[in-house]
Amino acid sequence: ERVGGVEELIRWRHPTRGVIPPDAFIPIAEASGLIIPIGRWVLEQACLQAAAWHENGYPLDISVNVSARQLERTEFVEEVRAALHDSGLDAATLTLEITETVLMRKPDATAHLLGELKELGLRIAVDDFGTGYSSLAYLRQFPVDALKIDRTFITGLTLSGEAHALTHTLIQLGKALGLQTLAEGVEQHSQVRQLQHEGCDLAQGFLFARPLTPDAV
Ligand code: CA
Ligand code: CA
Repeated sequence: ERVGGVEELIRWRHPTRGVIPPDAFIPIAEASGLIIPIGRWVLEQACLQAAAWHENGYPLDISVNVSARQLERTEFVEEVRAALHDSGLDAATLTLEITETVLMRKPDATAHLLGELKELGLRIAVDDFGTGYSSLAYLRQFPVDALKIDRTFITGLTLSGEAHALTHTLIQLGKALGLQTLAEGVEQHSQVRQLQHEGCDLAQGFLFARPLTPDAV
């Protein structure tokens, strides 16, 4: 029951429109290609922030979301290397989150890329796990470290036997593959107890904290 780390989330503080949520501008950034410089900036900022926390005695891991468009570029590995180098962040404390759907789109090319990223010493998590269509054969071959079990399973965890059975199965799958498991979208103590009972390693959600500024963290 300790804080292991944080996931980076982006917000746009617009001078006249106030705070714009990511679902309002990320799809546009993806379509226009602006997600490339935005993603690079987010990665750099996240590494700098985590390095500053470590410097101040807070050993938090940091998790950074990566989009399909970023992964398509050959420069991506170099950009991650540069962000680590420039911030001085210990790579072992950085996790890149890639959604299951993106991972499975071009599995062979992705496996190669993940191998290069892993050589930098960082960790890779499969985001929104359970909502895409994973090939278990590929999942076993990918050098991933963690499964982030999607919130849709956790929401129904204590309410429906089906959601419980599926969550149990996903956690067991993670264990069988030697991966860390993390439950997303935890909002109730009863869910935490159930997840502890199932042997889930980590949990995140509004029960622990709503999205915070770095200072508030
Ligand atoms: Ca994520
Ligand atoms: Ca997620």
